[in-house]
Amino acid sequence: MTSVAATPRVLDGLAIAAEIKSEVALEVGTAARSGYRPGLAVVLVGDVPASQIYVRSKVKTCAELGILSEMLTPPATSSTEELLALVDSLNRNDAIDGILIQLPLPNHVDTARLLEAVDPAKDVDGFHPINAGRLLSGAPAEQVLAPCTPAGILEVLRRSEIPVAGARVVVLGRSNIVGKPVAAMLINASATVTVCHSQTRDLAAITREADILVAAIGRPGYVTAEMVRPGAMLIDVGINRIENEAELERFFPGDAARREGFLKRGSTLVGDIDPAAFRIAGAYTPVPGGVGALTIAMLMSNTVKAARLRRAGR
Ligand code: NAP
Repeated sequence: MTSVAATPRVLDGLAIAAEIKSEVALEVGTAARSGYRPGLAVVLVGDVPASQIYVRSKVKTCAELGILSEMLTPPATSSTEELLALVDSLNRNDAIDGILIQLPLPNHVDTARLLEAVDPAKDVDGFHPINAGRLLSGAPAEQVLAPCTPAGILEVLRRSEIPVAGARVVVLGRSNIVGKPVAAMLINASATVTVCHSQTRDLAAITREADILVAAIGRPGYVTAEMVRPGAMLIDVGINRIENEAELERFFPGDAARREGFLKRGSTLVGDIDPAAFRIAGAYTPVPGGVGALTIAMLMSNTVKAARLRRAGR
């Protein structure tokens, strides 16, 4: 019989992200002694307020860690050709090790073409088909630029000493950004992985088999306690904003701190897993303060990695 931890362990994404960032800062110091400074270019097309917030925090983190950052803000009216020319100039700029194109792009822009134009050696988002292919073919992790959120999930598991090899892992969601790459990384780490999506039949029977459950579907509190095996490790990737009081009460009954935050901001965040399921877990990543905290840290980590690999390949 499965034993249930008396108190589920909280996997603190903020603490893990801080640890990774301090390692990155040390590596930036080593790079400086070798005569170079890792550099990241962030391309923000047009003015999407949410994107501006993300981009600002990426640029700020670069500054904190000693990474050079360049922010480019072409107008929303830019054509695909104009943006391709911009990417080409960044590909040829030796001071730039990483190129990040903030998504979503305006509808008239050919996103796939633009992402494929990024030099795979500078693809710190890990979205280029060459890097996706390398990941799938099981290239050594230290030589691959993997997408940041999946890479963050693997770091949470590794640094929390949660065994992955041989574990039964169920991934909910099959997006190119989270579901598929995290499944590939878990297979590379010798887990037995099942990927589920909106067409999956009898989802609960599958999720209940999981030693580790990764939820990345974008549906507030969709995974209920009945769908989880007691003692399972729950990795909640979902970031869903809830703005009505009934939902607040449903997910966070009697939680005074949540209520206070909700009243102050008019909303709160909930993941794809119902917080009630966390209570029967062995360990879980909270929302906020779990997986979400890792993404920028892994972007920084990918930037110094790209800088190192590019120079090693010369
Ligand atoms: P996405 O592109 O919208 O993909 C959602 C996936 O979930 C799809 O594969 C979809 O299946 C599946 N799905 C939807 N409803 C389902 C259901 N009822 N049962 C089973 N599967 C279902 O989303 P995403 O970009 O991967 O993001 C997922 C969540 O993670 C979002 O909340 C997002 O905000 C969050 N996220 C967080 C971070 C971070 O922490 N930094 C980064 C990225 C994303 P189909 O393929 O069949 O449609």
